Amino acid sequence: MTDLAAVNDVLSKFKDPESGRNIVVMNQVHDVQIEGDRVAVKLGLTSHSAPLWDDCCNNVRQLLLDNLPDLSDVSVERVEHLRPPQPLGQIGLTAKSVIAVASGKGGVGKSTVAANLALGLKRAGCQVGLMDADVYGPSIPQLLGVEGRPEVVENRIQPIMAGDIPVMSIGFMVPKDEAVIWRGPMLHGAITQFLRDTNWGDLDYLIIDMPPGTGDIALTLSQSLPLTGTVVVCTPQQVALIDALKAIAMFRKVNIPVLGVVENMSGFICPDCDARHDIFGSGGARREAERLEIPMLGEIPIHVAIRERGDAGQTDVNFEDELTAGYYNSIINVLVNNLAAAVAEDPPRPQLPVLD
Ligand code: ADP
Repeated sequence: MTDLAAVNDVLSKFKDPESGRNIVVMNQVHDVQIEGDRVAVKLGLTSHSAPLWDDCCNNVRQLLLDNLPDLSDVSVERVEHLRPPQPLGQIGLTAKSVIAVASGKGGVGKSTVAANLALGLKRAGCQVGLMDADVYGPSIPQLLGVEGRPEVVENRIQPIMAGDIPVMSIGFMVPKDEAVIWRGPMLHGAITQFLRDTNWGDLDYLIIDMPPGTGDIALTLSQSLPLTGTVVVCTPQQVALIDALKAIAMFRKVNIPVLGVVENMSGFICPDCDARHDIFGSGGARREAERLEIPMLGEIPIHVAIRERGDAGQTDVNFEDELTAGYYNSIINVLVNNLAAAVAEDPPRPQLPVLD
């Protein structure tokens, strides 16, 4: 006969994807019902793990079936588990994961990937903010179809909302079509202010669209707060890869983990004949990622609709289209799975709240 102790014993093998710790010890198992050979469990998971909710429930179910042969019927239901983020570093930003999206050079689709990561994570159920740090060519407002001037209320900058996603961009601050000349200290000040003084709320993920190349901003960010890491976007052709490699080397130098590589514009599927044309070659990023032992997060082909939706400020429509949603959701899934695997291997120490 299966009893509660046996069920808990098996469940304690499962690690919470956010904290990397045993779900029983973390009080994330609720309401275990055992009736003969049937077990029902409620599994508390945080919104940070939203892209993995279904996988976690399936895996826990399978774990019970595999380890308790008496059972014939196991159901696992996800329930909400609240765990607010702790303030990060001196900046005080309340975000659990801060992910920079970078590239070796411009025009490879970095901003488009950043916007779609934010939109996809939000759709999955995470709390997400999007910060456009591409000070030389801020394109996030355009991609998300938002404009306006952020107000300051009680010394806090109110971000512009793209649906439910708070967004900050230099693009909101300067007139369109005007060239902005930034000197190093001004850049540093603007980025710090965006991070520190914006009313972001509690975030699971802050996605940062970085300027292309290897500039000051990465250094500013690495000094301001503990970045979870960076996603490097590149295209398959050799020249773009060489620049991406320089960016990867720079991140490694300033101790920012490289979370993985996205190969964008990886082939073109002809809408008329469905044939695939590898305009820039293909698979180059995968080979380089393997050589450097960096995870490959996924590939996105050239898709005319992605460009059209971006130009129309309707990037969110990518998630109503099964094909384009598939590319981005798969990247999100690999990314969040990799984050979960990393904390499971080396769980961060629980933080004590700072006493005033
Ligand atoms: P970056 O931030 O690297 O400068 P953008 O994200 O602004 O690049 O993208 C440059 C252009 O390429 C935009 O017009 C965008 O809509 C388009 N684009 C990006 N990714 C794709 C894709 N997979 N298929 C088609 N067009 C794309």
